[in-house]
Amino acid sequence: MTTTVAAYAAPAANAPLERTTIERRAVGAHDVMIDIKFAGICHSDIHQARDGWGEGIFPMVPGHEIAGIVTEVGPEVTKYKVGDRVGVGCFVDSCRECEYCLRGQEQYCTQGMTGTYNALDKNGEPTYGGYSTHLVVDENYAVRIPEGISLDVAAPLLCAGITLYSPLKHWNAGPGKKVAIVGLGGLGHMGVKIAHALGAEVTVLSQSLRKKADGERLGADHYYATSDPATFEELAGTFDLIVSTVSAPLPLDQYLSLLKVDGVFANVGAPEEPVSLNLFSVIGGRKTLAGSMIGGIAETQEMLDFCAEHGFGAEIEVIPAEQINEAYERVLASDVRYRFVIDTSTI
Ligand code: NAP
Ligand code: ZN
Repeated sequence: MTTTVAAYAAPAANAPLERTTIERRAVGAHDVMIDIKFAGICHSDIHQARDGWGEGIFPMVPGHEIAGIVTEVGPEVTKYKVGDRVGVGCFVDSCRECEYCLRGQEQYCTQGMTGTYNALDKNGEPTYGGYSTHLVVDENYAVRIPEGISLDVAAPLLCAGITLYSPLKHWNAGPGKKVAIVGLGGLGHMGVKIAHALGAEVTVLSQSLRKKADGERLGADHYYATSDPATFEELAGTFDLIVSTVSAPLPLDQYLSLLKVDGVFANVGAPEEPVSLNLFSVIGGRKTLAGSMIGGIAETQEMLDFCAEHGFGAEIEVIPAEQINEAYERVLASDVRYRFVIDTSTI
């Protein structure tokens, strides 16, 4: 039998989110029921609730930074028991058979991962995300939140944390490496913390110097404003790795000029419009323009354990559900320090 639970949904593209109810499936043999405590607001929620990436499924219950407590387990569940602290990120299923799923890179599943929301599950039913009180999910698509991290600051790690951890690890951010993080928002601030904890020399490239003190407190060694043309002259040829978290199109050629020979520009920001590129920007200097999408389940667990070991979560502002629409406007205005997290008990 399904369970009716409260949620916040966008009834249509661009419509404000409002309180509603949704059905969660009966807890299957391999499922756990999670009492959601906190859900982060990712900029991807806004892109999708406003149908900026197209093909949105409405009504839409966003939310893929989910932290909560297991309240029920199916008969075949082995990983979790009632009372465990768990998280769910951007996907809730994948084919489990392709080379990427077998390698623990379920986010690149050849059949397409099943998004936590704005997707159709294997039965063709729409998935609904974390802006709700409960979620039923296969145990293999949940991760354990270590005791050292409280659930509110853990929630944003499920997307913002892993989305930065994965490329930073993949492209070897660490001692002796100069790493730039572009954009000090939800993703960017986790990038600064993680790159610093990995031992890299970290530079923030932000639109202004408004958040410089925060950036330095979070672990940045240097902080520059991209609105100042002198920044691009001074930093030409500096970085081994640049990770861009910017949600809008960037002048890529300018940013590629900041890389060393063999440097990598890893883009994780997902703007709604295409960007242009002069290929000479990568030819000279044998540079790599790359992308990266979240991370697999095992790597997400590794990231959570890494954050717990280093004693940090996200910097958050907890809000009641009735402030979701206002929070969306503030994210769009880059007025977030550094992640809004919904207290789901207010739904
Ligand atoms: P966010 O909190 O809004 O942060 C984005 C930051 O980009 C802003 O804080 C701002 O930083 C900077 N920025 C915004 N507009 C800009 C502009 N026009 N020019 C230059 N810089 C600008 O958003 P988020 O939640 O971190 O998400 C960032 C992007 O990553 C979104 O597009 C999201 O959809 C995408 N995303 C991708 C993945 C993935 O797997 N690849 C996962 C999650 C999210 P400053 O104020 O410091 O300039
Ligand atoms: Zn996200």
